[in-house]
Amino acid sequence: METIAVIGAGTMGHGIAQVAAASGFRVLLNDVDRETLARGVRAIEGNLAKGIKLGKLAEDDRDRTLQHIHGTTNLDECATADLIIEAAPEKLELKQNILRQLETVSDHPFIFASNTSSLSITEIATASRRPEAVVGMHFFNPVHIMRLVEIVVGKQTNDETVQTVTSVGSKMRKEPIIVKDVPGFASSRLGVVLGLEAMRMVEQGVASARDIDTAMELGYNHPMGPLKLTDLVGLDVRLNIAEYLHRELGSETFRPPEVLRRLVSEGKLGKKTGQGFYDWTTEDARRAQSS
Ligand code: NAD
Repeated sequence: METIAVIGAGTMGHGIAQVAAASGFRVLLNDVDRETLARGVRAIEGNLAKGIKLGKLAEDDRDRTLQHIHGTTNLDECATADLIIEAAPEKLELKQNILRQLETVSDHPFIFASNTSSLSITEIATASRRPEAVVGMHFFNPVHIMRLVEIVVGKQTNDETVQTVTSVGSKMRKEPIIVKDVPGFASSRLGVVLGLEAMRMVEQGVASARDIDTAMELGYNHPMGPLKLTDLVGLDVRLNIAEYLHRELGSETFRPPEVLRRLVSEGKLGKKTGQGFYDWTTEDARRAQSS
């Protein structure tokens, strides 16, 4: 395993490229959009500069990492990589088209790992001539900081593929966990339950949003309470995931609470709009909520 291609240089793709390059892999970073690609590289430079400022990184490490990254807007170039990590937008057809195109231009036996947060790996793999080499590598945002990677095993993914991406994940200094290809994998399924139950507790007046979060932060050592986390992720994003899991898993546990639907319909989507379960509009509030 020498070369990793990362498809999509957005929020996730640039972070994946950074950790892969920092671990010594040669990285091809691809995006359809030239400006996004440049922005992705600038974001990596910014992360590395911050690492140096905090004393976590030497200037040599920064230079080595940047030297390992080659940007390209030509998808075909990526088909020579040994591992292709796809971080394009969350659309099944788009991910399948990328996979088909890569297989069309090359016979190189690459592994195709999707960073999808909700789509089925088994379904993505139906576009492939080698579904045994299609797998999920679900990283978390921001990738250079979050330590988890979920390795998602599709119905036809073989053991060799799982072992290879697990060892690549470890080499990237992530903690890989191996999960069956089920809706919500392990992380979203459990994380969403906690968030939805916290919302139902707000509805029932059990405690304030802040006190419910404090219960989890101080009582259970969670770095952030479930409602604050919902505000950061976006209430619209959370509603979509809850609807999807409710539909796919058929459990009432995932039925979106009324308060979530109401806040979304009022345009209160969390930190990005200034209002959610918290008020993010004042500097004081932001500081208090990030402490
Ligand atoms: P994003 O929109 O920030 O980035 C996607 C990038 O893909 C964009 O830069 C876009 O220009 C590029 N792109 C679009 N079509 C392309 C193509 N055909 N070929 C190459 N590049 C193309 O999205 P994101 O938040 O980075 O999410 C990417 C994937 O990661 C999604 O599947 C998402 O579900 C998953 N994910 C996201 C998060 C998160 O917190 N944002 C966390 C885990 C997983």
